[in-house]
Amino acid sequence: MDIFDQQHIWHPYAKVPNPIVAHKVQSADGVCLNLDNGKRVIDGMSSWWSAIHGYNHPVLNKAITKQLAKMSHVMFGGLTHQSAIDLAKTLVAITPDNLTKVFFTDSGSVAVESALKIALQYWHNKGEKNKQKFITIRAGYHGDTFGAMGICDPDNGLHQLFCGVLPQHYFVKSPSTVTMDEALKDLEATLKQHSNAIAAMILEPVVQGAGGMLFYNPQYLSKAKALCEQYQVLFILDEIATGFGRTGELFALEYVNLEPDILCLGKALTGGYMSLGTTLTSDKISSTVGTLMHGPTFMANPLACAVANASIELLLNSPWQDNIARIEKHFYRALSPLKENDKVADVRILGAIGVVEMVDDIDVEKTQNQLIENGVWLRPYGKLLYTMPPFNITDDELSTITNAIKAVI
Ligand SMILES: *Cc1c(COP(=O)(O)O)cnc(C)c1O
Repeated sequence: MDIFDQQHIWHPYAKVPNPIVAHKVQSADGVCLNLDNGKRVIDGMSSWWSAIHGYNHPVLNKAITKQLAKMSHVMFGGLTHQSAIDLAKTLVAITPDNLTKVFFTDSGSVAVESALKIALQYWHNKGEKNKQKFITIRAGYHGDTFGAMGICDPDNGLHQLFCGVLPQHYFVKSPSTVTMDEALKDLEATLKQHSNAIAAMILEPVVQGAGGMLFYNPQYLSKAKALCEQYQVLFILDEIATGFGRTGELFALEYVNLEPDILCLGKALTGGYMSLGTTLTSDKISSTVGTLMHGPTFMANPLACAVANASIELLLNSPWQDNIARIEKHFYRALSPLKENDKVADVRILGAIGVVEMVDDIDVEKTQNQLIENGVWLRPYGKLLYTMPPFNITDDELSTITNAIKAVI
């Protein structure tokens, strides 16, 4: 812990001074964080979905230092560089065939903002000037900037404070919390009534992350996309959390081979080394959009692009599908029995994601300290105790995580 940190620095969704003191990390390697009190803990969070290969990886270190020796940054206005070109080529190759145009941003939230702007500009240029709203399912999370906040779940508390300032969009029932038929009925009824005011539907495919760690049937995606086509509403997928293998498919949209009009990526894009986001879209949309009115200072940062190229290559050349199947199997074996525990409301497992939902709110500080004593770093949230470890985690390390979860429960 650090007193200056506690007194002066804001941490995510926290107060200053912070009543819960942050643990100080000295270094990280493999799947472990080395804390300044000498404790070595397995990072069961992959630094919020991003460090899929763990830390201090020699291949990623080499890629980023090689780029550093050339240049760490150049503006992207009027200039370009090989790392961005290579990354764009790779992203076009590994995402659905219709997605051919790439916009780089400096974070996931800004990738979402860009997606929303693309949709708005598309309809504006089509002469459909009333299409200025978005539709999404409840329990979603798309980032902390204002446009993204406006499409996050309106009731879950993260952004409620700002509801008076935020544009009002359309929220329909989530297939994670009601049956797929009920969710689709609500979607169709809302589209029927309001589609002339709606530019696009946006949602996280299959896994709703920060909005509740909820999973839903991928078939919902195909049916929702068909309804959007019928009612002339663009379809945006936010794969910032699910992208790059986490759910067992390289992208969750592959569960139903869906071609979204716009796709947002981030988080694991750089293997957790740097902040980078990207928004992909089709020829059809880009040709109508024309000049896209967005251009962050650190757009397509060369260090971030270089390490993203290396991270994707490392992933695709690794037995990632086997690894994720192995992690999923371990979670089924070790976590599913917790359903019998009175304190546990639900256990949900998909790919390299394991979620234990408790009946009551979790005492974060106490639980976190117990987990650290057991050699594990997790960040409980509300009633949720969950893990999404790096893909190269060993079976023994997985057992350490699941045993720690069992111990704190
Ligand atoms: C984390 C996340 C974002 C926001 O990304 P940042 O890089 O934190 O801005 C957007 N959408 C989803 C689904 C996310 O999980």
